[in-house]
Amino acid sequence: MIIFKKEQDIRHYLTEQSSQGRTIGFVPTMGALHDGHRSLLVKAKEDGGLVVCSVFINPTQFNDKKDFEKYPVAHEADLALLQEAGCDVAFMPDVSEIYPDGLSDTADYDFGRLDTILEGAHRPGHFRGVAQVMTRLLDITHPHNLYLGQKDYQQCMVIKRLVELTGRKDHLRIVICPTIREADGLAMSSRNTRLTDPQRALAATIYQCLVSIQGKQQTDSFGLVQKECMDLLKEKGFDPEYVALADAEDLTLMDDFVAEKSMVALIAAKIGDIRLIDNMILNPSLN
Ligand code: AMP
Repeated sequence: MIIFKKEQDIRHYLTEQSSQGRTIGFVPTMGALHDGHRSLLVKAKEDGGLVVCSVFINPTQFNDKKDFEKYPVAHEADLALLQEAGCDVAFMPDVSEIYPDGLSDTADYDFGRLDTILEGAHRPGHFRGVAQVMTRLLDITHPHNLYLGQKDYQQCMVIKRLVELTGRKDHLRIVICPTIREADGLAMSSRNTRLTDPQRALAATIYQCLVSIQGKQQTDSFGLVQKECMDLLKEKGFDPEYVALADAEDLTLMDDFVAEKSMVALIAAKIGDIRLIDNMILNPSLN
């Protein structure tokens, strides 16, 4: 595995590899890697070509300064996992490599409602930062395949739209990989390492809520199940931000289940100062 820290060096290397006909598979991450990240790397490896992974905690996508400061860093362990997962190229830049002209951003993308609902509503500016870093990383790595996790469902949709808006759609394939979970259902996340033991014991409640939404879609109204989930989360000590239902295709929010539609249920809830998100496609056979 080759490790790059400088954008010019990796750019040069990947341009050379591309010109020799190698396919580039790119996995962008913020590090503190776990089996969810590993699944993206494994998929990229299976697809063939060169597997490139970036580890960069992007300051511009954190609306909460404390969340940024406390974001776990684990460079040594990350390198070991990357090596073991068969990653060919690791990109671990400093902030100044990604943002040589400073953190402010002049680009203005029209994501429609996509970046103002759900995560966008609760984390103002978050998707702007995601778009900013993705534009930069895609410009540096010029991948043929981009691997993203369904765990961040709305982020996948924003990045898909970004790829369209920036004219990359015809030469960049987006591969969305299923959410990898712990044995009790908790979606793997770098932030899980910050949970205390009692918080960790309760954290799978979010997954249990998603399972109950999925199970009750034919018998109950969404309003009823939504309230049950909010109540359960509160009872367990969470501060739930949303329990939502949306069209899985375009993330239009829905008031109730529609049998013939592909739908996704999405939850964001805080436990202590740790914010967790998760989602579940309700009727995957329609996808
Ligand atoms: P992050 O390091 O949190 O920015 O995540 C980097 C990539 O890994 C994103 O595309 C995430 O959606 C994906 N990812 C994070 N957690 C999981 C998971 N539990 N299962 C699958 N993919 C994940």
